Amino acid sequence: MKRFLVIAPHTKEGCAKAIQQIEAAGYITHFDWGCKDGEHCGWAIIEAENPKQALLVVPSSDRPQARAVMLTKFGTSEIGDSHR
Ligand SMILES: [Zn+2]
Repeated sequence: MKRFLVIAPHTKEGCAKAIQQIEAAGYITHFDWGCKDGEHCGWAIIEAENPKQALLVVPSSDRPQARAVMLTKFGTSEIGDSHR
């Protein structure tokens, strides 16, 4: 299983709806939000097989704007290798 950072922006107008939909889908505890700082976006780390599957946590109305980035942890011995 891979881990993805799901980045799910929404508009200020769509804020309450976006959060309600994620709560209804059962993913509210996965998400952190920038809304109170004026950044209307949710971030969550989701385990999935691929980015498409990770994005299923985002309501379909906000999914076209959402992105999923695969996350990798490097150990100290790998840091040099990743830049070669
Ligand atoms: Zn918001």
